[in-house]
Amino acid sequence: MEYRTLGNTGLQLSVIGFGAAPLGGAYETIDPTEAAGSIRAAIDHGINFFDTSPYYGTTLSETRLGEALSGLREKVILCTKCGRYGLDSFDFSAARITRSIDESLTRLRTNHVDLFIAHDIEFGDLEQVINETIPAMRRIQEAGKTRFIGVSGLPLDVLAEAVTRGHLDFVLSYCHYNLMIQDLDRVLRPVTSNAVGLINASPLHMGMLTASGPPAWHPAPQDVKDAAARVVKLCQLRGVDVTTLGLRYCLDYPYAASTLVGMSARAQVEQNLKALDFKIDPELLAEIQKIVAPVEDKSWPSGVQRARG
Ligand code: NAD
Repeated sequence: MEYRTLGNTGLQLSVIGFGAAPLGGAYETIDPTEAAGSIRAAIDHGINFFDTSPYYGTTLSETRLGEALSGLREKVILCTKCGRYGLDSFDFSAARITRSIDESLTRLRTNHVDLFIAHDIEFGDLEQVINETIPAMRRIQEAGKTRFIGVSGLPLDVLAEAVTRGHLDFVLSYCHYNLMIQDLDRVLRPVTSNAVGLINASPLHMGMLTASGPPAWHPAPQDVKDAAARVVKLCQLRGVDVTTLGLRYCLDYPYAASTLVGMSARAQVEQNLKALDFKIDPELLAEIQKIVAPVEDKSWPSGVQRARG
């Protein structure tokens, strides 16, 4: 396993991070025993970074992760979030954030997390996030309940503004750097410099770059889904596993300390570990880029300020 430092935190994250959204059943019904096995297998293979949220499966992901990490807590860098509690349920107030961390710590069976994130801040009022939420998270840090704080969300301009004004330790971006899209590098990376750590999530574009395709709720426009399906097909024809290639593409991006991929089964962990030694064929990559070019950097609206995305 390769490890990279997250900004100025001094934390060494495994380049492949374990995204625990699927543990809440976000993608499909999962087998909890198998999921616990996948967590142990990941740790055995050097994956030390685990990301969850009270939002994933309305607390189920945190509960399952907490159970599976029992006795293993000190081996991992643990991240959870606050402010998002359901599809349309958000509360970024200081009072809610302060209760939220205690609830998460109970479910995760620990007295502190390493990273604490204001989750999907584009659904909140950015002034509140900067002037109320982040200061409340700093007080939580001072109380020893988290080591570092950050924000996450989809629209890069919102994240960039939060990074510029919010004095954050790190930022988590998703679906903005993978085979389908790379605008993270243009919009967000320049403002993070080296001081604010960068975590990249959703290397498979939330399940799109897999043989089974995106989940029904996937918000991407149809032409993006169609292009991804053509990429999957091309890789199948060439005998290349699209998930391995897609993850490797993200690992090759040197500015992200870790790439979070959603997993819930041992076979997925084993498959994703193959990305560590995988070399991308430049000719195949050029063909993929040709397929993706018509939908290049196309995202979708998210949050309360619809002009973004
Ligand atoms: P992803 O791109 O990692 O895709 C996950 C999907 O791919 C799941 O269905 C998973 O079962 C499947 N998959 C993974 N490896 C596979 C393999 N080898 N073969 C076949 N299928 C495979 O999307 P994601 O899970 O949404 O993102 C990764 C993680 O990043 C999340 O779990 C979460 O922890 C984090 N994240 C955070 C935010 C946020 O903070 N707003 C948003 C998105 C993701």
